[in-house]
Amino acid sequence: MNTHTQPPIARHTRSLAAILGEFRKHKERIAFVPTMGALHRGHLSLVEVAKTHAERVVVSIFVNPKQFAPTEDLDTYPRTELADVEALSKAGVDAIYMPDAGDMYPDGYQTTVTVPEVAKPLDGASRGPGYFAGIATVVLKLFNQVRPDAAVFGEKDYQQLLVIRRMVRDLNLDIDIIGAPIIRESDGLAMSSRNQYLSDEERNIAGWLSNVMRDTTALLRTGADPEAALAKGIEGLKSVGLAPVDYYELRRDPTLELVTSPVAPEDWATVRLFAAVMLGRTRLIDNMAVSE
Ligand code: AMP
Repeated sequence: MNTHTQPPIARHTRSLAAILGEFRKHKERIAFVPTMGALHRGHLSLVEVAKTHAERVVVSIFVNPKQFAPTEDLDTYPRTELADVEALSKAGVDAIYMPDAGDMYPDGYQTTVTVPEVAKPLDGASRGPGYFAGIATVVLKLFNQVRPDAAVFGEKDYQQLLVIRRMVRDLNLDIDIIGAPIIRESDGLAMSSRNQYLSDEERNIAGWLSNVMRDTTALLRTGADPEAALAKGIEGLKSVGLAPVDYYELRRDPTLELVTSPVAPEDWATVRLFAAVMLGRTRLIDNMAVSE
């Protein structure tokens, strides 16, 4: 039995505005957590972080068609609405916003937001320029609809967090962007809605990704040359079946410029290792600072 009160669910901007109006009337700060649903503990950790920044927490669930390439998994992306509402009720969120794709992008829709430099490498290069443009566009639309005081994004999608931070700064949006740490399974695998795609055999292999990455960051902390350390890591990934490797790169926060010389201890926290690998048909991404 569901003993938790279900928060109000808005499916249109008008009902969303009515709910938010009540919060604003009481001068309550609003923290916003955008998601694509199929919620797991990683998403729920963002809700907990959001609660520490505002009196009210609003979560959106929207599988954004604009960030999927035609070859990607838009149609099969996991949708678990009932379980998501249940989890968000239990987590004590104050409102759920589930807009419809037709309302978000009605006939004649044209506008796109791009953040070209931050979006260029890594996932921007491997998933195409439309990927982060699709994300920046939907996030700006959601920001305009929810008008939050703060918004929480997971470091799991670190480049996405940097794209949003840049957009918010460039467009003078008055929203605190908060990054939240990656939540992992016990074997180190970063939680992801797409982990559901993994077979049992693949799931066992997937845990190696963060382990190999930790070996690489440990090697980098000894002062190793990045080229050699990354090559060793890539060999390790391939040897356990995490291949092809889409990228395995060392980049500086927040510009994402490549790091090619040994990392000095004072830079360990701001230089990050970024990885994307294929495991069967599933693409896994992860990142960690050299200090981790
Ligand atoms: P998604 O539903 O995949 O679009 O993710 C929605 C938000 O949850 C994004 O800010 C993600 O970075 C964040 N997120 C997803 N997985 C994790 C995780 N394992 N740990 C922390 N945040 C996560």
